[in-house]
Parts: sequence; C-alpha cells; structure tokens
Amino acid sequence: NTPLHELDPAVAAAVDAELHRQQSTLEMIASENFAPVAVMEAQGSVLTNKYAEGYPGRRYYGGCEHVDVIEQIAIDRVKELFGAEHANVQPHSGAQANAAAMFALLKPGDTIMGLNLAHGGHLTHGMKINFSGKLYNVVAYHVGDDGQVDMAEVERLAKENKPKLIVAGWSAYPRQLDFAAFRRIADEVGAYLMVDMAHFAGLVAAGLHPNPVPHAHVVTTTTHKTLGGPRGGVILSTAELAKKINSAVFPGQQGGPLEHVVAAKAVAFKVCASEEFKERQRRTLEGARILAERLVRDDVRAVGVDVLSGGTDVHLVLVDLRNSELDGQQAEDRLHEVGITVNRNAIPNDPRPPMVTSGLRIGTPALATRGFTAEDFTEVADVIAETLKPSYDAEALRARVTALAEKHPLYPGL
Ligand code: PLP
Repeated sequence: NTPLHELDPAVAAAVDAELHRQQSTLEMIASENFAPVAVMEAQGSVLTNKYAEGYPGRRYYGGCEHVDVIEQIAIDRVKELFGAEHANVQPHSGAQANAAAMFALLKPGDTIMGLNLAHGGHLTHGMKINFSGKLYNVVAYHVGDDGQVDMAEVERLAKENKPKLIVAGWSAYPRQLDFAAFRRIADEVGAYLMVDMAHFAGLVAAGLHPNPVPHAHVVTTTTHKTLGGPRGGVILSTAELAKKINSAVFPGQQGGPLEHVVAAKAVAFKVCASEEFKERQRRTLEGARILAERLVRDDVRAVGVDVLSGGTDVHLVLVDLRNSELDGQQAEDRLHEVGITVNRNAIPNDPRPPMVTSGLRIGTPALATRGFTAEDFTEVADVIAETLKPSYDAEALRARVTALAEKHPLYPGL
C-alpha cells in the first residue's frame, strides 16, 4: 500500500506539476474539461483490477456481480439522458466507439460519407491513414463559403455515391447540424445515419442543442468533452441494432471493458442529469458567444483576426488567422505564453500546412466547469484579443490570466 509519492516520485512529481498547470492556467481546448472529484475517485478505484468480458448478466468471468450493477446503472442512466433505446458504455474511447459502430454496420470496401478533416471532421470520419480511410471508401463533404455544412453537396454526393453510412458530426465546427435533413438524405439512398456527438453531447444532455438520437440509427460520443466525465466512449442505437453494436464492441473490437471507467461514466451521467450541469452548459454557450462577439470587434479585425461563420451556436469558436501576421502555431504559442491553452486548427481552404495552420479552436467547457461567468468570459475574450495584437504585453496579460485563475480555484484541497 505504498503511496505514489513514495513508490514512484518521478511520476508523482509530474502528476503534481500537471495539477498545478491545470490550476494556474486557463484551459480552452474545446475537447477538454475538468472531471468532478467523484468521477476521478471511481476511475481510480479497485474496479481497475476486474476482468468482465461480456455484458451485465452474461460475463465470461466469475465475480462480476458488483461490476454488473455498475455497468447496468451506467447503461440505464445514459439511455435516460438521451432517450436512447440501447446503449453500450464499454468503448475505451471515442475513436473506438466509432470503429465499433462502423464495424457493426459495414464491410471493408463499403462507401461512407463524412465531413472533411480540414473542414471540421474527425480522423475517424474518413481520414486517409485512419482505419476509417483505410477500410472504407470515403466520400467527404465540406462546408460552403458561409462556413456551414453544404447540405446540397451532401445530397448530391449521397445520390452519386450511394454510401452505406453517412456520418454527421464534427471536431471543429461552430454551428448545429440539421439531423432531420441528414436522415432524409440517408433514407433516400438507403444509408445508415451515424451521428458523432462527441463534442456537443453535454449541450444535448442539457437540452441546449438538438438531440440526434431520434434521427440517427447510431449515435456515438466521448464522455470527457462537454459531458465532463472520464475519458471514454459510448454508443447509442436503436433496439434493432443492439445486438450488432454489442458484438462489434466485444468481441469485435475490444477485450475486457474498463469497469473503473464505466463506473466513472455512471457517476458523470448522474451529474449530467442535474440542474447544476444545465446551468454550467448555459454558461458554456454564453461564454462562447461572448468570445465570438468580442473577437470580431473593429480593433481586433484590424489586426487580421476573424471568426469563422461569423459566430457560434456551440461551445467553441474558430478563429480565422488568414489575414493575421500570426499563423496558428504562433498564435497558440503566444496564448500559451500568457497562460491560455488552446489548439491551432486547420480551417477550410487553409493556405498553411496542417502542422502550422491558419486557425485556432477555442472552447469554453472547462472554464464554465470552473465557474466562469459572463463577466469572466468577457475578460478572457479581451485578454485573447490583446494577446493576438502585435502590441501585446505578455507580463500584464499573464497577470490578468492569473487573477482569473485565482478567482475560480480548481480542485481546491487536492
Ligand atoms: N469523435 C469526435 C467528433 C472527436 O472530436 C473525437 C476526439 O477529438 C473523437 C471522436 C475521438 O475521441 P477519442 O480521442 O476519445 O478517441
């Protein structure tokens, strides 16, 4: 029972340093969040010791009576949260949820459609060297000049290519998708509709974003982004597809489920059903709207900064730096210097290479979890705007970041 600090000081020191980094900087990576202590407690529990191949009541190992209870709670809660007929809570990650969902519905060589990576899609939606691009014939759709998914193109490509599966979902897109339109197109060509709601699932759970579940055959998600739970994945589906989905996850893609993570997912789903969670998601959206508004003011536009699609309906803003003296890498580094963590992001028709880019993806979920209000997000937006100007004063801006971090302590007592 030797504690980590004694057994392995090198790892313990790095963990402590990471806690300090999270506490002292402003986390604005749109796919990150801060899990509640109770979620981390479940994830760090003795459940990590247990093998439980199979599903509740149908395991290939003995001693599963307690993990059965936990996994069933997670299943019931997530079905209730999203109104789904079936849930599989075992995928180790979002990528594995997508791999399993595709494995359930497709054969190698089948055609899939997904949003192009540079236009906001995810690697697993058909990127060339991802499993999705290697196993399936990919036809990508795009956003139009207004920065919104071009549904006329989706319809045309679907009719021309007769995909077996259409993926609707994104990793970097500031607007809502029209799930009913996607389903109508899928039905017209005899395709399955899979919605990957990894990014916006928390907004859906709070009732602040349309729910894809009534429209899609399959919905996948991660549990660690806006949902604010442990790192992991979930697949929701119709009752009709339940068997196919379950056998694609196990034994199709995975062995033993991570029951400690499943327990943490269960706890997170309980939190997601709370009024406090809804209120947090409202602040998440409000923060993103404030950010978008304040980054298109005249003094900010004057230095070549713009916001893709002119605003946001979700928890993130995509900053367009094509006319700025800074590229995505330089802007990311400069924000890091003042204590704000974001990621550079390729934007549609990006003139710069993918390792550099001309965009930034800035998200508000983690700061909303920390308790940031509209007033705080206004200050954050102004700090970001000042940092992207040639005249930026790193020391003064870093002090403003520190004041915000201290105003909203993260994990006090840890
Ligand atoms: N799907 C979408 C839309 C994502 O944005 C991501 C992660 O960024 C994933 C899936 C993959 O999730 P994970 O990193 O857990 O594999």
